Amino acid sequence: MIYVILSIVGLCLGSFVNAFVWRLHEQGEGNRARGRGSSKKGNKLDPKRLSILKGRSMCPHCKHELAAKDLVPVLSWLSLKGKCRYCHKPISWQYPLVELITAGLFIVSYLFWPLSPVSSLQSSVNFIVWLVILVGFMALIVYDFKWMLLPNRIIYPLIAISIALVSFNVIFTGNLSLLLQTGLSVLIAGGIFYAIFAVSDGKWIGGGDVKLGFLIGLLLMDPYQSFLVLFLSSIIGTIVVVPGMLLKKVTVRSRIPFGPFLIIAAIIVRLFGASIVTWYKSVLLLQA
Ligand SMILES: [Zn+2]
Repeated sequence: MIYVILSIVGLCLGSFVNAFVWRLHEQGEGNRARGRGSSKKGNKLDPKRLSILKGRSMCPHCKHELAAKDLVPVLSWLSLKGKCRYCHKPISWQYPLVELITAGLFIVSYLFWPLSPVSSLQSSVNFIVWLVILVGFMALIVYDFKWMLLPNRIIYPLIAISIALVSFNVIFTGNLSLLLQTGLSVLIAGGIFYAIFAVSDGKWIGGGDVKLGFLIGLLLMDPYQSFLVLFLSSIIGTIVVVPGMLLKKVTVRSRIPFGPFLIIAAIIVRLFGASIVTWYKSVLLLQA
């Protein structure tokens, strides 16, 4: 039963991510256009219709408002064969994919949740907040892939949520050393990116990556796990980039968003990090 609930909630929140990311971007474009004093012709949208909470979902091409039957995750897309019901323009496969991945991440998180049992109060609070963070992560991944940017309007709320979660854990367990661990964790995950950012004058990585590093450090509350994220994200990045270079799809000059690699590494480490850290500590001890 819990799996059914998690799948449905995951699919719906994935659908929310699609709409949210698109609106956030459209709002940004609108602001920029107004800032320059230029008026974009056609496709002008009332800002109210782009409101993240109040606006109705619409087709990204013809801006036709969508009916309830168009909003069923995955199924609507399949039944319309990936086309808008109104203007018949293709709707990207990104939409159902994001919905499926979000639902998949919810289920995998439940299956492998490291703070067992999920039923204890502390663990379930951490789990529910984690699901919220996952939704934010999905939005960041989509945004970074599409527009090479990690918007503050997604990262800052996630940082606030993570700070609240750290406070909850410290108060709930009375474990003050958690504060020190989190401090070190943030220093490692955020500090290294800040150093790279400062040294390269923002050319190698973006400011968004630095903030994302801080967020991940807060979230993991463990310096070993933060270190593991850095290591794992570079491996994932290499695995993705090298074949691209061989196929000449990626050149040295291509800009590649690093955010998604960091986030994928953070998700893996959040779920499996404790066992990986135990394993590598034991390997190091054996060799010493
Ligand atoms: Zn349309």
